Amino acid sequence: MNKRFFVAILAIMISGTALAQKQIKSWNKNLVIAHRGAWKTQNLPENSIASLNEAIRLKCFGSEFDVQFTKDNIAVVNHNADFLGKDIATSTYQELLAYKKLSNGESIPTLVEYLKAGLTQKKTKLILEIKPQKTPEREEALTKAVIATVNELKAAPWIEYISFSHYICTYVIANVPGARVSYLNGEIEPAKLKEQGFYGLDYNQNVFKKNPDWIKQAHAAGLIVNVWTVNAEKDMSRLLEQNVDYITTNEPELLFTKLKK
Ligand code: MG
Repeated sequence: MNKRFFVAILAIMISGTALAQKQIKSWNKNLVIAHRGAWKTQNLPENSIASLNEAIRLKCFGSEFDVQFTKDNIAVVNHNADFLGKDIATSTYQELLAYKKLSNGESIPTLVEYLKAGLTQKKTKLILEIKPQKTPEREEALTKAVIATVNELKAAPWIEYISFSHYICTYVIANVPGARVSYLNGEIEPAKLKEQGFYGLDYNQNVFKKNPDWIKQAHAAGLIVNVWTVNAEKDMSRLLEQNVDYITTNEPELLFTKLKK
């Protein structure tokens, strides 16, 4: 191949990669993660598409949401194991649709619907919590379904995974190269998480009160530190002083007000 031609092709390839990187790095530059979307101030239902859209409108870095699994293997967005009183694991998706709607008139969102709403923008990340299920088999089936949906929708750049289930977390780490996975349950020290391939730890603020060195240890290990669920101003102040990477809150507006001071 002609040497100049080769160099020109190489330059185009490098600039293309740089452009792709730049697009991926378009996320809002703040540490605010809206917990189950931004719902409180506008009186929206938690985990609704409306609460996701509100987190996007507020320019949060991330919007967190919870994923459960129906009896007929549909991943749906809901915090509790029941949807407004109806058990999700023993109900079909159609049964949940027929049962009730959210207070704003939305049906229980499927993961597909929720991700499609999130993918309309490139500023707010989607912090996807895979909820523990009753058996390891159901946990694996849900996690596989989530991964397949993320792949089909090409949503990977938007997604950071979190779970209380260590089994779910390690399944994602083993099966999704480059996945950003943080552990929620709080009992594992930072160095161990690093060894296990985690991207970060996302622990209850009380864990860091009990283990005051863990934020520094996590950073020394190259882990990202997220803290939940931080709603009081004094707790926000303390964690900002400790240089945590993200704060997950029901009060994103309050946290933004503090950050502007
Ligand atoms: Mg959650």
